[in-house]
Amino acid sequence: MIAVAIDGPSGAGKSTIARTAAARLGYLYIDTGALYRSIGLYALRKGADTRDAAQVGALLPEIHLSLRHENGVQQVYLGEENVSEEIRRPAVSMAASHVSAHPAVRQFLLELQRSIARENNVIMDGRDIGTVVLPDAQVKIFLTASARERARRRLLELQQKGEPVTFEEVLRDIEQRDYNDTHRAAAPLRQAEDAVLADTSDLDLEGSIALVERIIREKGQEGTK
Ligand code: C5P
Repeated sequence: MIAVAIDGPSGAGKSTIARTAAARLGYLYIDTGALYRSIGLYALRKGADTRDAAQVGALLPEIHLSLRHENGVQQVYLGEENVSEEIRRPAVSMAASHVSAHPAVRQFLLELQRSIARENNVIMDGRDIGTVVLPDAQVKIFLTASARERARRRLLELQQKGEPVTFEEVLRDIEQRDYNDTHRAAAPLRQAEDAVLADTSDLDLEGSIALVERIIREKGQEGTK
């Protein structure tokens, strides 16, 4: 099986870029953020304090998560409920950032992520895929862009969905999540030593996808030599 790990901060365009590259290259695309978001959503619904490791940890045995691909599109299920839309709400983004700091949550999701990569050729995106989840991935990419550029893109996305947010709010949210992701003790966001850095600050979407596809083809070939 071939695994491509794409890590990077919030809003770097990982999911759109990885999804498109996966479709073009024939890989299964796995968005691991959706798993953390689903746990965040569950904890919010239960009224738990998402920063509290014990409260969130106590909920884990009740959580039944699965990823299903319907017409090539990843859907995430909490039990039998499709929560793919609801987990995109900004409140859930912050809850995901909180719950993802708890080692028990990371451990809970580790085997699920690895088992998917054992059975499929995957492009998996997240924060710790190249460093922790799939350290032997044939291709590792660290995808990033400046915080302001990421905020600009996220604002457009949220505005299209009718979310009433300002640029400053989105930027603050991104900077806060960057801080949380890079400063947590458990599997912090960092570039794997053998990852290729892809900075998309000055690239449009098509240029970013082309860059990622090129890296995957080049590195994938090296891996099979
Ligand atoms: O990628 P996305 O923004 O959907 O991820 C939501 C949150 O889940 C992130 O802010 C991050 O804290 C966490 N996450 C993580 N490890 C991953 C994927 C996401 O900690 N592999």
